[in-house]
Amino acid sequence: MNILTSDSPQDSANANKSSNRRRNRSGRNRNNQNKKTASWDISQFQIEPAPGKVRFHDLDLPDPLMHAIADLGFEYCSPIQAQALPHSLSGHDVVGKAQTGTGKTAAFLIAMIDDFLRNPIEEKRYAGEPRALIIAPTRELVMQIAEDAKLLTKYCDLNVQVLVGGMDQHKQRQKLESDLVDILVATPGRLIDFATSNDVHLDQVEVLVIDEADRMLDMGFIPQVRRIVRMTPRNENRQTLFFSATFTDDVERLVERWLHEPIRIEIEPDNMAADSVDQRVYILSSDEKFALLKRVIANENAESLIVFANRRDEVKRLFEKLKREGIAVGILSGEVPQQKRVATLDRFKSGQIKVLVATDVAGRGIHVDNISHVVNYTLPEEPEDYVHRIGRTGRAGKTGVSISFACEDDSFRLEPIEKLLGKKLECKVPPAEHSE
Ligand code: AMP
Repeated sequence: MNILTSDSPQDSANANKSSNRRRNRSGRNRNNQNKKTASWDISQFQIEPAPGKVRFHDLDLPDPLMHAIADLGFEYCSPIQAQALPHSLSGHDVVGKAQTGTGKTAAFLIAMIDDFLRNPIEEKRYAGEPRALIIAPTRELVMQIAEDAKLLTKYCDLNVQVLVGGMDQHKQRQKLESDLVDILVATPGRLIDFATSNDVHLDQVEVLVIDEADRMLDMGFIPQVRRIVRMTPRNENRQTLFFSATFTDDVERLVERWLHEPIRIEIEPDNMAADSVDQRVYILSSDEKFALLKRVIANENAESLIVFANRRDEVKRLFEKLKREGIAVGILSGEVPQQKRVATLDRFKSGQIKVLVATDVAGRGIHVDNISHVVNYTLPEEPEDYVHRIGRTGRAGKTGVSISFACEDDSFRLEPIEKLLGKKLECKVPPAEHSE
């Protein structure tokens, strides 16, 4: 095992000791683990107090973290941040019922970064021993979380590393051996590989985050996650933050087992995307769908657009057909190699490709702020997936449009979606501007 010395000054007790789990938020170690932010101070980030809103300024966060939050353009806490942070910042376990699009990633990252900045480790540190472990079901989601973590730690000496399948294992191992890791973000399978080969040691984990637990259950990952959780300290000796969009009995059992006296927070779907998305449903026959899709792409003035379909083969067929039409299109589905998916997402983010075709699983990890349109080429079988899909647009204070194509085969899926949303969706024939 490599012994690496942390390059941060070391003047506080090891925060990883179980007795010290409740946070030292005295500010004693403030700014010790920071990269230079000499030219910045909090006067450059002024947000007026507003009734009913929580500012990040109200949470007494260290300056390097505030600086990164300012760079991200966040002004007020999202509801999940406002509700979760007061508890997670003081070291409590939190169970959050929340979808993507609510700001839950920043909610858990801010809590751990605050902790690590205040409580730097003074003892010698070892390679492959993360202070925080974040487990998420898909590679895309892991990459997105890691990207957010890097942005939020931009002004801190905290290292973020990623372990995902489908990417060069050798490189991931080399990086683990050569740098310390503070925040490790991983999919369960690849993490087990690294833990089994003793490249990663989880017994020093102070904060464990389980993201999209319901999806991990659906994907059959729970036995692996259980093994991973067993490698971390006992639940009273670590902080556990647990997120799931839905809470079934199975999910509840995991909460019971893995969390210690958690605070529960619930963010309903209506609080988020649904309100900022103009949801349209067009009735048509299945053989009219492709022509309508082309017209939507051409006429809707879409900045960027994601088309969701239910199956991989459908997604692939759509991708090929759009390509043949000369449309700059990318594909995100499980069968596309990871590196290619990352490259596709980058091209989408930079605007080189305007249209992305995706399956639900691959689409989960897409966090791009300026997606103007989501098209449901087929309505999803799970109503929650509808909320996830439309949540790709209408993000970060912007409005978006979702267009669902409902043919006879899709129509029976509408009612469960309406039930989940708590409102009726008006079904129309496609408007004149989209007719031939
Ligand atoms: P998430 O639910 O973590 O996928 O976050 C959804 C999106 O909201 C991301 O693009 C974040 O950058 C953005 N976001 C998170 N917190 C805030 C905030 N307090 N203010 C504005 N945007 C935010």
